[in-house]
Amino acid sequence: MIPDRACPRCRTDNILAILRRPHTWTNASGIQIQGVDEVLLCARCDAHDPIAGPITAYFAVHGSARPESLAQLARHLLHWIDQARAPKLPDENTLTAEAEAWYRGEL
Ligand SMILES: [Zn+2]
Repeated sequence: MIPDRACPRCRTDNILAILRRPHTWTNASGIQIQGVDEVLLCARCDAHDPIAGPITAYFAVHGSARPESLAQLARHLLHWIDQARAPKLPDENTLTAEAEAWYRGEL
């Protein structure tokens, strides 16, 4: 488990891996914005996912990454990384609404 990280879906600390993907987008003003998207792999929430499930099963069986089966774990992780969806672009309308709410003191 990764310390100090809770799963946003089940609120437990069962996070096995975090995929951080840097990305950029151009906002309405034409300014390029850089961000980092995270994909969390939760032992509880992703146990039945066809892509992440083998990783949760690996840790359920082995407890931690084991030298004798690192190739197997790496294969599962690379497959999960390859299948991770591209980060969604932020919704400019939502960002603007949140910024305006913040300026009004509502957040
Ligand atoms: Zn979870």
